[in-house]
Amino acid sequence: QLKIGLLAIQGAFIEHRNLLESAVEQLQQEQRQKKQNSKDCYSVEAIEVRRGDQLTEDLDALIIPGGESTTVAKFMQQNGLLDAYKVWFSETNPRAVVWGICAGLIALSDRVVDMKTGGQTLIQGLAVTTDRNFYGRQRESFECQIELKPVEDISDCNEYFPGVFIRAPKILSIDKPESVRVLATVNSYPVAVAQDRILACSFHPELTEDPRLHLVLLKMVLRSRGEL
Ligand code: GLN
Repeated sequence: QLKIGLLAIQGAFIEHRNLLESAVEQLQQEQRQKKQNSKDCYSVEAIEVRRGDQLTEDLDALIIPGGESTTVAKFMQQNGLLDAYKVWFSETNPRAVVWGICAGLIALSDRVVDMKTGGQTLIQGLAVTTDRNFYGRQRESFECQIELKPVEDISDCNEYFPGVFIRAPKILSIDKPESVRVLATVNSYPVAVAQDRILACSFHPELTEDPRLHLVLLKMVLRSRGEL
């Protein structure tokens, strides 16, 4: 059983749950192909997280969805989730995985560049510098093909992914290239990265029908649990 929480700030729950279900089916298929008669049988449970006490030992991952990063920070602060998250990620479940999408990527970035950001609270942990509204200033939203890169254990694809960008942030620099791996690019700029138990992307995979990024999350969970 893989238990995945979604920070319940602004919708997108059904989209994520559907894609997690498709991803777990793909995972089963891959496992069956790899080891014949495999007894591994994973299922996924998606839950909406609203309070700190929902960040439990058996919660394998948390998705911090897109929206508006100041709203995300405020929501987390007002519900005691900011402190609860830190305890959960480092102590309650030291194998937990977090996935920041768009505003979630901003929240997880160690450094955020935007004059208007002011004293916004960040979760941090991901060694990148992000410009909060980089694409937003150019175009409100756009779609383009993203190039996926194969990354050991968690992604073997080397193809395109439909990229949906909405007032998207841009990863300006990867500040610890030795530990941050690039999972996807547009014009050779990183748009999805992974560092240890952190996954982050500047686009919205939940607005497509492609479960490959959700599969990456599940694989990161399995790898972290030592099951991959
Ligand atoms: N640029 C937005 C922000 O500052 C994020 C946009 C998004 O999550 N789609 O929060």
